[in-house]
Amino acid sequence: MTKYDNSNIFAKILRSEIPCKKVYEDDDILCFYDINPIADTHVLVIPKREYRSFDDFVTTAEPEYISLFFNKVAMIAKKLGLIESGYRIISNHGLNANQEVPHFHVHLIGGENLGGIKYK
Ligand code: AMP
Repeated sequence: MTKYDNSNIFAKILRSEIPCKKVYEDDDILCFYDINPIADTHVLVIPKREYRSFDDFVTTAEPEYISLFFNKVAMIAKKLGLIESGYRIISNHGLNANQEVPHFHVHLIGGENLGGIKYK
């Protein structure tokens, strides 16, 4: 299994080497606006600890941290006013999902009707 690459862009954001448009931050997570949004609201939620992808996160993080992380995603959805109108969360893992940034993240998307998921 490949090692976490701390030169990835989200690691640089966490080290404040490059800026981001911050939505929320605490000791455990950072949330910021996606630079290339696919909907009216599109933010990224990332843990401050080093995990390469969703699979790495759920198979190696402590259950308490996994639970805390997803509870904070829900808290941010509420903070952004997305509970009533609805939202989608996406996490790309690996090649077929075209994961670009090898630091686990959840896309939290809403603010407009997102349409259905794409069927074959
Ligand atoms: P993924 O394909 O799931 O790895 O998605 C990576 C996401 O990071 C894409 O939606 C990009 O638009 C977004 N992104 C890349 N660089 C930045 C950045 N500097 N600030 C905010 N979002 C970024």
